[in-house]
Amino acid sequence: MPIPHVDAYRAAAPAAALIARIREAWSGPPVRIMEVCGTHTMAIARHGLRAPLAGAVKLISGPGCPVCVTPDGYIDAAVALASRAKITLATFGDMVRVPGSRGSLEQARAAGADVRIVYSPLDAVDLAAAEPDREVVFLGVGFETTAPTVAGAIVTARQRNTRNFSVLSSLRTIPGAMALLAADPAVRIDAFLCPANVSAIIGADAYRPLAERYLLPCVVGGFEPLDILSSVLMILRQKSRGEARVENEYARVATPGGNRRAQALLAEVFEPCDADWRGLGVLPASGLRIAGGYADFDAGRKLGIAVAATPVRSGCRCGDVLKGMIDPPGCPLFGAACTPATPVGPCMVSTEGACAAAFKYGSLA
Ligand code: SF4
Ligand code: SF4
Repeated sequence: MPIPHVDAYRAAAPAAALIARIREAWSGPPVRIMEVCGTHTMAIARHGLRAPLAGAVKLISGPGCPVCVTPDGYIDAAVALASRAKITLATFGDMVRVPGSRGSLEQARAAGADVRIVYSPLDAVDLAAAEPDREVVFLGVGFETTAPTVAGAIVTARQRNTRNFSVLSSLRTIPGAMALLAADPAVRIDAFLCPANVSAIIGADAYRPLAERYLLPCVVGGFEPLDILSSVLMILRQKSRGEARVENEYARVATPGGNRRAQALLAEVFEPCDADWRGLGVLPASGLRIAGGYADFDAGRKLGIAVAATPVRSGCRCGDVLKGMIDPPGCPLFGAACTPATPVGPCMVSTEGACAAAFKYGSLA
């Protein structure tokens, strides 16, 4: 099947028609739909999709940006590692600016730490091979979308016998966080717009327990405006029929069972562990730690560094933003003490953060 050009998913006339159908499909109080994924949050803000749906739908940003949910304790551990002799810390660009309780990696680098930005985990393996007298630690931050590439890098490092490479894993799995939010009466979610890229790995069927247990419609939606509007319409049709099931708007990429090869790779290299999510607390079995068979590549075990729990800094409301309890302008620091140039919390740092989106494109209300 030919893949339509991306413009086909952004056309104005079909978007207007979809908005009209959404308004016809629902006449009750606004349906609170959480878009779990930061890429959805940015697309919704960039294309101005909140205002035309107001009254029928309230789109709420969720915890789907890996940078945003990484707690201070992890940043602090990374800063501590980077400050050791003969250690090079390799990470994606967004992570260097996230403030921990003792400053950011950017500040550590300014003070002399060896922090390098890479574009893939494999780049970090190459870096280790090129500099054998240093230990290269890659910061494994992300969800099911990123985790297979980290697993692949670990397997490659073993195959190439690159022994001075390791990963400090803060990788997480999304459905556990969604279940926590679904179960929290204070959060009040009526449906989920499920993350497109994560769903391509785990498969749309992964949300079935969520839909069935919490009676919440779950629609896997692509990232373009027409994808998002179509997904909202699918949700509202379910709501008006009193249904709660999983539907897949993004069938051009995500399948019911997901990517089995990636799932097998994850199962080989990682094992589930409890994980501390900024704003959400410790969620059982929602993290991915390096399995015993690959312990040589686990920076925590190899270098004797532990990620400690750290208290949230005063004034930061990132936790409430990540749970959809407040919109970004509801944080007293928003746009004043906290801006993209002077971020206090990660939601303002990340290019997929709700606060960054609200600051760049206007209020999310
Ligand atoms: S695309 Fe994946 S990694 Fe990026 S915000 Fe969405 S869920 Fe998270
Ligand atoms: S404005 Fe800044 S401190 Fe407040 S929630 Fe957003 S990122 Fe966190």
